[in-house]
Amino acid sequence: NADTAMYCAKNLGKNNVQFFQEEMRQGILRKITIEKSLRKALNTSGFELHYQPQISIDTGKVRAFEALLRWRDPELGNVSPLEFIPIAEDTGLIVPLGEWVLREACRQGVEWNGSGCEDLIISVNISTVQLKQANFVHMVKDILQETGFLPAHLELEITESLLINSFEQAVPMLKGLRDMGIKISMDDFGTGYSSLNYLRRLPLNTLKIDKSFIQDINVRGMGENIVSSIISLVHRLQIEVVAEGVETEAQLDYLVRCNCDNVQGYLLSRPGPAENVAGIIQKNYGDMFEMNLKNQQ
Ligand code: C2E
Ligand code: MG
Ligand code: MG
Ligand code: MG
Repeated sequence: NADTAMYCAKNLGKNNVQFFQEEMRQGILRKITIEKSLRKALNTSGFELHYQPQISIDTGKVRAFEALLRWRDPELGNVSPLEFIPIAEDTGLIVPLGEWVLREACRQGVEWNGSGCEDLIISVNISTVQLKQANFVHMVKDILQETGFLPAHLELEITESLLINSFEQAVPMLKGLRDMGIKISMDDFGTGYSSLNYLRRLPLNTLKIDKSFIQDINVRGMGENIVSSIISLVHRLQIEVVAEGVETEAQLDYLVRCNCDNVQGYLLSRPGPAENVAGIIQKNYGDMFEMNLKNQQ
């Protein structure tokens, strides 16, 4: 573990090359173990989706649920998607895993949209590796047909990393998805290779401001300016905004005041299992926003 490793490193003195080699070896071993266990989990339906709401500030109701992959391995315990998604991407396992996620999310979406709730969007994270598969659009079409989920209720969250080498290929593919009625959302906006030119040329419905900017609100003055500037710019492009990682009243207050459309974060609701969804659909979060509007008067 880290403590012993540090202890060893100190005692190695000039030989700390050995320490880094050992750390690298541990890292590689962990990756191999995770890869093996991921393969096993794929064959034994060892995954689960949790859902976190995006709340519309206008209506106080849920706009969408983002599907977030959860994995509890019998030996490794809970493994964070921040750790296993990159490994699934490196090994290509993200392709079958992502397909499972999409099918499961659509299946749930049909159920929830039928139960008194109309126009509930399900937002699914799509890896750049998946989007580079030649049959991606086909696969999405098949799953929509198979599950009977309406394309207008499906939103795909993509990240800027897709645009780095493949912008020219990505644009027509995303347009194809948009023409089917599917919504496209830019996730983690501001952390990658953001270019205003890309924003203009991409067929986006939604843009999610990365949580690192939201967390700067009321901490560093400039962070707030960036958030309000992104919101007004994006609105001029007719794109809807979601602020992610909203944790405090002060952040919410600021977002309400600069006309943000939707908020997502622990303050409103943590991601939770499918069983929690029905209760959240019933809820009205309007009071939280009105309180914030009153505060400014
Ligand atoms: P993301 O798509 O940006 O998802 C939002 C992450 O922020 C989630 O982490 C969520 O639990 C967390 N979060 C939500 N509200 C708050 C908050 O108020 N504060 C903070 N600090 N965090 C908050 P999670 O579930 O650990 O997922 C991490 C990342 O893993 C996701 O980031 C996404 O990039 C990836 N991921 C998760 N599920 C999938 C999936 O099915 N497919 C793919 N390709 N990637 C996935
Ligand atoms: Mg996301
Ligand atoms: Mg995000
Ligand atoms: Mg992310």
